[in-house]
Amino acid sequence: MIYFIFGLFLGSLVNNIAYRLVRNEDFILGSSKCDSCQKNLLWYELIPIISYLIQGGKCRNCRNKISFRYPLTELITGLLTYKIAEKTLLISNFNLINFLYFNYFLIITLLFFILSLYDLETFYIEDKLIYLAIFIWLIFALVFNYLSIFPKIDFNPGLNSLIYLPELNVKDYIFNRLYYAFIFALSILIIFILTLGKGIGLGDIKLFFILGLYFNFSDILAASAFTILISGIFSLFILIYKRKIKQAVPLGPFIFAGLFLSIFTGDYLYELVNNLLILDT
Ligand SMILES: [Zn+2]
Repeated sequence: MIYFIFGLFLGSLVNNIAYRLVRNEDFILGSSKCDSCQKNLLWYELIPIISYLIQGGKCRNCRNKISFRYPLTELITGLLTYKIAEKTLLISNFNLINFLYFNYFLIITLLFFILSLYDLETFYIEDKLIYLAIFIWLIFALVFNYLSIFPKIDFNPGLNSLIYLPELNVKDYIFNRLYYAFIFALSILIIFILTLGKGIGLGDIKLFFILGLYFNFSDILAASAFTILISGIFSLFILIYKRKIKQAVPLGPFIFAGLFLSIFTGDYLYELVNNLLILDT
């Protein structure tokens, strides 16, 4: 529960960073304002979700609607923070190594979230965040190497039975990740060339590179499958309702949604597949 609440506040931070990145505003000095009337918000107007609910989704000053995006972002971040704390065993066993794993997965997941919110508004992948993600990965790789540990945590353990995954040491881990990242980026680049850049933007290649750097192969597979599934359903919806889209739809949010689902449903999918296999035999 503590992790969920902590996550809600992180969600508030995610909103803030995405908002200010899009508008090129100052991070540290700028205070939070209402979108419509620009009035500075007070601390009790900044409590995640609760402020939104109490104010009925409206600004206390100008009575204009506050975008539903903000509490939704907070809720998603809260859920992710809790799930990552659970999967990295931080909840059951609070120690330095689990804490490192927790931060490792939390930071990249939230960076992905900020990237997708930015993509949603601007249709661009912010390169600064990509460099930051690579830099943070390097730092973690050095720390893992120093401590002789590596995050062998699968959000989708069920898929491992389908893929051959040898036991790794730290050096292998670092090279494997770089290898995955390049393979994934390359395969997306091939799709980009084959579809003549219509389906996928060049920025999405960077997203897949980062995904490959941080996550295990099974999780990347699950995230990619979910991304294809969600964007497929979305395209179908567009076709059925014959909605005209003015601009190309950014893929970033779909990739993040895919990552979200792969983190959240991995265990359930594993049980589901296991149960089906048991029923069959
Ligand atoms: Zn206002």
